[in-house]
Amino acid sequence: MSLSVPHALDTLGWLSAAQRLPSPNCDARPQGTAIELIVIHNISLPPGVFDGDAVIELFTNQLDWDAHPYYQGIRGIQVSAHFFIRRDGTLIQFVPCSLRAWHAGVSSWQERERCNDFSIGIELEGSDDLPFTEAQYATLNPLLQQLKQVYPIRAVVGHSDIAPGRKTDPGPHFAWQRIDERMA
Ligand SMILES: [Zn+2]
Repeated sequence: MSLSVPHALDTLGWLSAAQRLPSPNCDARPQGTAIELIVIHNISLPPGVFDGDAVIELFTNQLDWDAHPYYQGIRGIQVSAHFFIRRDGTLIQFVPCSLRAWHAGVSSWQERERCNDFSIGIELEGSDDLPFTEAQYATLNPLLQQLKQVYPIRAVVGHSDIAPGRKTDPGPHFAWQRIDERMA
């Protein structure tokens, strides 16, 4: 038996400490695939706007595509990360870790393609232009520790690391030195 863990994951990979908002934008991982990678992203919708629920609506296929001109460029996309950390540190989970969330798109890590197969995606509410908040790091670090206790995580990387030239997030303001371990 392990020592008691304050924010346990259940057998499907739902974290008890997170607000749960199930997304349909996921499916089964390939059979026998270990979860070895954590991918850090940033997102805000419209970009740079942090006070609404558009990201939640996007990840749960409830976004009104006509509500903002920016949404025309992403109309119809079906995406979700496993986790979303809001500016105030609130943690929301859309997909249980045992399932494959659709967060990374075309990607490769150490010559392995399709990172969604073997990764967990964490979105930080933010943009490439602004620092993330203290509250976000205060939520992110225990989450990373929890995930590393349960899954054989080998690295924590940025979306830009696995989709260079196509993705820039989490961007230059993400303070990698503020997370406890970044295993290459
Ligand atoms: Zn991303």
